[in-house]
Amino acid sequence: MFNLVIFGPPGAGKGTQSAKIIEKYNLAHISTGDMFRMHITQNTVLGQKVKELLSEGILVPDSITINMLEEEVNNNPDVSGFIFDGFPRTVAQAESLDVFLKAKNEEISLVLQLDVNEDEIKQRIAERKKVSGRADDDETKLIRRIDEYFQKTVHVLPYYEKQGKLIKIEGVGAIDDIFANITKAIDNQLNR
Ligand code: ADP
Repeated sequence: MFNLVIFGPPGAGKGTQSAKIIEKYNLAHISTGDMFRMHITQNTVLGQKVKELLSEGILVPDSITINMLEEEVNNNPDVSGFIFDGFPRTVAQAESLDVFLKAKNEEISLVLQLDVNEDEIKQRIAERKKVSGRADDDETKLIRRIDEYFQKTVHVLPYYEKQGKLIKIEGVGAIDDIFANITKAIDNQLNR
């Protein structure tokens, strides 16, 4: 299996690039943010639990997130690999993902870090807000999400760097140019 993590701050373009990666490499896409939003829309028990957290831009507790993710992986037994989008967002999530995959004789193959500076993020999300309808795209909520990113999520980078799995991709530029750099990194890893 080829298991990819796409990593980056809110608004880095993880969703956009994931869609292109899936199409080219035929991987199963798991976006924890999309999954939470689906639960909220469908008003499930889980959705009711996390609704407030999402709208405030606060991370959902690890135990809830990890359980949901593992269930989704287990529900897709016959795929050639996964792209994890928005997960792991804490070191505890990264560690538990390793343990979970190892039990299946699998591992993370590659972590792509979409590198985008804070000013660009703020601009992009202000643009996105006009169409997204996402409560967490509000400016004050966005500041919260960026805080969460710098307090909890950035620490995932050294975790994967130590494993030699991290590749940084310039995330500012034309979507297709960014994608070209992503495909180079993936193809390199696949041809090892
Ligand atoms: P973004 O555009 O900020 O990257 P996502 O759609 O990935 O947004 O996530 C939206 C929200 O869902 C997060 O702000 C957080 O509340 C929750 N969430 C998503 N993934 C995780 C995760 N791995 N751990 C904890 N909370 C998460």
